[in-house]
Amino acid sequence: MAALFVKKSGQIRVTSAVSETTTSPLNHAVIMAIDQVANIHRDVKDGEKTVDPDLRHFEDDYLCTNYDCYLSQDPCIMCAMALVHSRVKRVFIFNQPSDQRAEECDDEAYHLHKLHLLPNLNHKYEVWRLSTSSVENSDESYPSKRVKTNCDSK
Ligand SMILES: [Zn+2]
Repeated sequence: MAALFVKKSGQIRVTSAVSETTTSPLNHAVIMAIDQVANIHRDVKDGEKTVDPDLRHFEDDYLCTNYDCYLSQDPCIMCAMALVHSRVKRVFIFNQPSDQRAEECDDEAYHLHKLHLLPNLNHKYEVWRLSTSSVENSDESYPSKRVKTNCDSK
């Protein structure tokens, strides 16, 4: 699985990661990328000069506030909750046939569990499914053909 975090609607690439579960069962791409975001923020606060100038302005950001995340597949529950805690704004998932999915992150947090729609969570984010032919909002039954609706409206 791969994860890419961007800010300013994709104008600035923040970080990316690819799962490395052979080195640790917790090295899921989402977890690794959020950890990298935290490291970037810490380095900026510590005055580290090697941080990309585009990433130095995050005064209002708490971890991934107002960031978008692109995923190569539906995340597992652990990664989906990490995205809640990160305060990410939107998640975009590239649909793949199930036989091409990586094994470490395939319990389909949004498709099966509707995690992003749980009313008791203190942060919500939009989830979009991307395919070569359309964009689908995941608050509909998967794989619906509904296009561009806001999942926060439910
Ligand atoms: Zn995961």
